Amino acid sequence: MGTKQVHKFLCTKCGYIYDPRKGGGKGEPNTAFEYLPDDWTCPECEADMAQFKKKYEVVEIDT
Ligand SMILES: [Zn+2]
Repeated sequence: MGTKQVHKFLCTKCGYIYDPRKGGGKGEPNTAFEYLPDDWTCPECEADMAQFKKKYEVVEIDT
């Protein structure tokens, strides 16, 4: 058992939350937001990355 800090990003336009474990749009699962391509946009509303706000969430991981 352990905890890990996962960075999620919130689209301030539509409320979509990018979860790096799931990926989204062109982002493959397990892609950190920082490593998404520069032309990545919100899969819901096509807002660019500048519209996203960083959120932190601590997730408990079973090991
Ligand atoms: Zn959006």
